Amino acid sequence: MKNFPSNTTDYLIIGGGLAGCILAWTLRQRGLQCQLMDTPLLSNASRISAGIINPISGKRFSPLWEPDVTTSVARQTYRELEVHFGQSFLREIPALRLFTDADERDIWLTKRAETLRFAEILTPSEIAPRFVQDCGGIRYMAWHVDVEAVVLRLRAWLRDEGCLVEEEFDDTCLSFTGTEAVYKAKGQHIRARRIIMCNGWRTLRSELWKELPLTPAKGELLIVRADAPPVQELIVKSVFLLPLENHALEGSIMRIGASYSWEHLDETPTPETAQILIRKAQEILPVPMTILRHDAGVRPAAQDSKPIVGVHPHETLFAIMNGFGSKGAAYTPFCAAALIDFLEEGKPMAEWCSLARWKAWR
Ligand SMILES: Cc1cc2nc3c(=O)[nH]c(=O)nc-3n(C[C@H](O)[C@H](O)[C@H](O)COP(=O)(O)OP(=O)(O)OC[C@H]3O[C@@H](n4cnc5c(N)ncnc54)[C@H](O)[C@@H]3O)c2cc1C
Repeated sequence: MKNFPSNTTDYLIIGGGLAGCILAWTLRQRGLQCQLMDTPLLSNASRISAGIINPISGKRFSPLWEPDVTTSVARQTYRELEVHFGQSFLREIPALRLFTDADERDIWLTKRAETLRFAEILTPSEIAPRFVQDCGGIRYMAWHVDVEAVVLRLRAWLRDEGCLVEEEFDDTCLSFTGTEAVYKAKGQHIRARRIIMCNGWRTLRSELWKELPLTPAKGELLIVRADAPPVQELIVKSVFLLPLENHALEGSIMRIGASYSWEHLDETPTPETAQILIRKAQEILPVPMTILRHDAGVRPAAQDSKPIVGVHPHETLFAIMNGFGSKGAAYTPFCAAALIDFLEEGKPMAEWCSLARWKAWR
């Protein structure tokens, strides 16, 4: 791929988390130019993400949107990245979802069994005795994406390609000529055919996007060493236990998460939340656990828990790809492709992820 002059480009992307990096990669794969402007310390979500692609989530076993297409685009994109960079980013992992009570099992049996046939239902006796449960569960395949590694690798690649601008975006420095977005600040003079906001929940600080229907949610995660024989599955109940590495002698290293809070939107880990996560994890796997790492971040969640992709109703050169909530790993590759199809080829945007699903944003 060739290098382009730094001051004119097809796309200026704001934000270098998973969304911005995957969008930049997809644009370059299609032969389009881009510059990505990012100050990584403004938001942590992608660097601490657990990276689970779970085909069903929540108490009501909600499936992903368009699961066949979204997961197939995601897997293809992460595999392409693996081939290109010679590094592993994606692994398939069996998931064991334990029912918290009989009501939850009934919800599964009555509402979901017919549509979500990919899951195998398990009685309590079919589940390993070391996991505490008395209502059984279901088993199915999930995926784990090393989101932090994807973002670090793509950022380094963009820097090498001369496509990374390590500055904080200030929307008072942005203007539109009718055919171009012009960004003039701190020695930067970038002219782009379009500008795309991928800056997570911080988008709400931007004048044109401050009314976006986002309800950001703080989340905390632990990495622990569990004094237990290797765990091979992703275990999901009131928290998840995601095995990272297994050491026959030293126990299991696993991620435990995640908390949700809609107040105090900061990225500071709190000891109280760590204790809650450990307690819930030990209700599933009652063994000693040592905390190795504790992270917090803010998920850019949309009010209806679906991604937000489209162009600003008053400024069509200004687009957005945001609202990934707790499903960035599954949805960013699909949404990047859909946004480029929409902007470059005029293909209609899928309603479920379109910004225009809200009347105020048409
Ligand atoms: C605790 C927790 C657990 C999670 N677990 C999962 C999971 O298991 N599976 C899953 O799929 N997702 C998970 N997520 C969600 C996932 O992390 C997000 O969906 C995803 O990271 C969102 O990426 P993003 O690029 O949209 O936003 P962000 O990661 O927030 O990236 C935005 C980027 O823009 C930068 N930025 C912001 N403002 C500016 C500005 N003015 N100028 C320049 N740069 C700016 C930020 O610093 C950051 O680098 C989890 C999130 C949390 C917090």
